[in-house]
Amino acid sequence: MSRLSRARGPRLGLSSLGIHGGSEAPGPGDPLVPPLIQSSTFMAGGPGDEVLYTRYGNNPLQLLVGRKVAELEGAEAGLVLGSGMAAISMTVLALVRSGDHVVASSHLYGTTLTLLRDELPRRGIETTLVDPSSGRGWRSALRESTRLIYLEAPTNPTLRVVDLGPIVELAHARGLTLVMDATFATPVNLRPLEIGVDVVVHSATKYLGGHHDLVGGVVAGTRSVVDEVAETMKVYGPAADPHMVWLLDRGLRTLDVRVRRHNENAMAIARWLEGRDEVGAVLYPGLESHPDHVVASELFRAGDGFGGMVSFVLSGGGKAADRFVGALELVRAAPSLGGATSLVSQPRYTSHVGLSAAERASWGIPDGFVRLSVGLEDADDLLRDLEQALESSGT
Ligand SMILES: *Cc1c(COP(=O)(O)O)cnc(C)c1O
Repeated sequence: MSRLSRARGPRLGLSSLGIHGGSEAPGPGDPLVPPLIQSSTFMAGGPGDEVLYTRYGNNPLQLLVGRKVAELEGAEAGLVLGSGMAAISMTVLALVRSGDHVVASSHLYGTTLTLLRDELPRRGIETTLVDPSSGRGWRSALRESTRLIYLEAPTNPTLRVVDLGPIVELAHARGLTLVMDATFATPVNLRPLEIGVDVVVHSATKYLGGHHDLVGGVVAGTRSVVDEVAETMKVYGPAADPHMVWLLDRGLRTLDVRVRRHNENAMAIARWLEGRDEVGAVLYPGLESHPDHVVASELFRAGDGFGGMVSFVLSGGGKAADRFVGALELVRAAPSLGGATSLVSQPRYTSHVGLSAAERASWGIPDGFVRLSVGLEDADDLLRDLEQALESSGT
């Protein structure tokens, strides 16, 4: 980073950081946009000089986007990896050893749950899952060997927002590392490090990339933690492909404006859904009816940006949800989230397919539950599409 931008760094807003963060101010004749550095290796320096190699994560473009992510999160350092799961698994593996214990929220992205519940025990690491809304559960789950607390907010697909304050206090009092997956929030709505979280991870596949055209992940935290994650990545190998990193840099340039539009569209849709007879419940942290509305209002940076994810339950149950999804014309039925196109999915077919209907219902995901990733289309067009699909859902 040039001296100029470093001096200005802390005072730049998120939009400016998304555009200028991590890079030197270009000089005469330089390309305005950092070029794609599609090279696996780099000319050697002298004896003892650092070896540059794209799997090590020190391709100059990887480094640039890592710095940009760090600036967006207010972190000392950042690293880009090959997927969200690469970021999550390399972070967890970097921070725990055989014999260590992890305490994690039970409301996690499915593959993260698989990592903690099925994969880590094979390496001698145990995890205790805690219902994130049970205030005292966190404390009683801790053991002598606990090293790490892991959680997400907002959660998928019920969009619960845990009160982070007490968990931050607990983690600090016990000297534990608190890791948070903030994929659903983005740094526009929540900067976890500012409230005492130690390490933040994202699936960059979602809002950070923002266009449904890349798979990537990021981690941000202290220099020493990020260096450990990079060393772990070196061994396991899930490095970020340069072309993906270039696309991610492009996505980050518009992150702030995009997420604000996602927030606005989602709020409008959530309020509109609340007034519809076909809809039994709407789950959106921006609605007063949401169980965590107060917590979310205090936690989220702007106090008025609650994210682009809206979930709702159709009173007609699973059949109505199938008809509704089948009738949508503009909103696409596809898994994933966080991009320009509005996407809809039913957790009973995707993230929660492995549970029985009764188990899902006990998690607050009855048949008829629909998850909507509100995109960047015109809100009026989305409302019209939702309206015609709701009207066909009953017939
Ligand atoms: C998608 C997602 C992941 C996994 O990310 P990939 O980029 O698909 O590996 C992890 N956490 C959350 C909350 C996600 O939505």
